[in-house]
Amino acid sequence: MTDALVSVEAHLERILTAVDPLPAFDQPLMEAFGLAAAEDVYARVALPGFDNSAMDGYAVAHADVATASRETPVHLPVVGEIGAGQASLLAMSPGTAVKIMTGAPVPAGADSVVPYEWTDHGVANVVISQAPDRGQHVRPKGQDISEGDLIVQAGTVLGPRQIGLLAAIGRPSVRSRPRPRVVVMSTGSELREPGSALGRDSIYDGNSFLLAAAARQAGAIAYRVGIVPDEPRTFLNALNDQLVRADLVVTSGGVSMGDYDVVKEALSPLGTVWFGGVAMQPGKPQGFGTVGEDAIPIVTLPGNPVSSYISFEQFVLPAIRRLMGRTPYTRPEADAMLTHGLRAPEGRRMFARGILSVVDGRLAVTPVGPQGSHMIGDLAESDALIVVPESVTWVEAGETVTVQPLDEEF
Ligand code: AMP
Ligand code: MG
Repeated sequence: MTDALVSVEAHLERILTAVDPLPAFDQPLMEAFGLAAAEDVYARVALPGFDNSAMDGYAVAHADVATASRETPVHLPVVGEIGAGQASLLAMSPGTAVKIMTGAPVPAGADSVVPYEWTDHGVANVVISQAPDRGQHVRPKGQDISEGDLIVQAGTVLGPRQIGLLAAIGRPSVRSRPRPRVVVMSTGSELREPGSALGRDSIYDGNSFLLAAAARQAGAIAYRVGIVPDEPRTFLNALNDQLVRADLVVTSGGVSMGDYDVVKEALSPLGTVWFGGVAMQPGKPQGFGTVGEDAIPIVTLPGNPVSSYISFEQFVLPAIRRLMGRTPYTRPEADAMLTHGLRAPEGRRMFARGILSVVDGRLAVTPVGPQGSHMIGDLAESDALIVVPESVTWVEAGETVTVQPLDEEF
């Protein structure tokens, strides 16, 4: 009997349909840093908020200084001084000058600023030897942003520049979705914690670190749970303990056809988690469903480290981005020239590991090593996945393939 395989798209669709964006709430700006805005933000004030000086110098009426030159300098009495944050002097008379600092409000009656460099730096009187254009060195109110302008669109990821802009228009907080809490559990009686002693039959648990780090890189808060042995009862207890702090659970191992496939054995009886094969290599055995009273989504990944990571990239990363309200859900793909021939399985989409480079000004990709799903060294060396379609069994060197660059922000 052959199992019918589900397509990569169908499995992803199943996951995205069942996962809803987390509720948004007002968060202080620094908490919202790195999150997607969940509201359209309109400016409640203009920027600049008032006409202000772009230079240290003298505020003047342009008509009074229009003829100033080195040969025919203009002399004006200095009737006051305005620093930034001082609106003490609100107006001035024609035929006078006011000393003004960068950022200080330009008084009514002045329309231009003469920078220090064009004057004798006079205190009671100033000698002006160069004329500004009308309006020169004045930053007019609303030049940058008008009141009512849309300044941040819902869905925009709030980076330093957006956070700065929100503060500049006076917003202390912004509606955004919180970072999802992702619980990562490794299963396997052969697993040991890094730093502990290793027996002849045991291996270190790399996956929970790999997956927790990937979840954190995707924007989630990752909780790495200690190793769970291949005992369904123990696994269920550990899972139950974790559900209170999880928006999403990710497990590794125990989902294939073996005798000790603990995740499958423990969760199948619940009837809320699907287990089956996805038409991909590596990463065929997969599972997804919900667990607990609150129906927390759970993605059960295969245990082979490379399979685990590639499955994370295809299914968990999109789920995390959906929880965060971030689009696109899946990594942007690019075309690259394959430098070495690559064999691929019939009927399954292959995600081979590769290293990107530029050859003759074109993006190129070189497959790494023998492409085994246990090859963690090669995985660490690679920086892209090469996607070979289900129907293709051999790609010739020089042909164009689709790649998913792994380290890019998107
Ligand atoms: P499983 O999916 O549980 O059958 O595991 C498949 C293979 O991946 C086995 O060789 C496991 O020893 C290995 N494996 C499972 N979990 C981990 C892990 N957390 N870290 C490293 N290797 C693992
Ligand atoms: Mg196992």
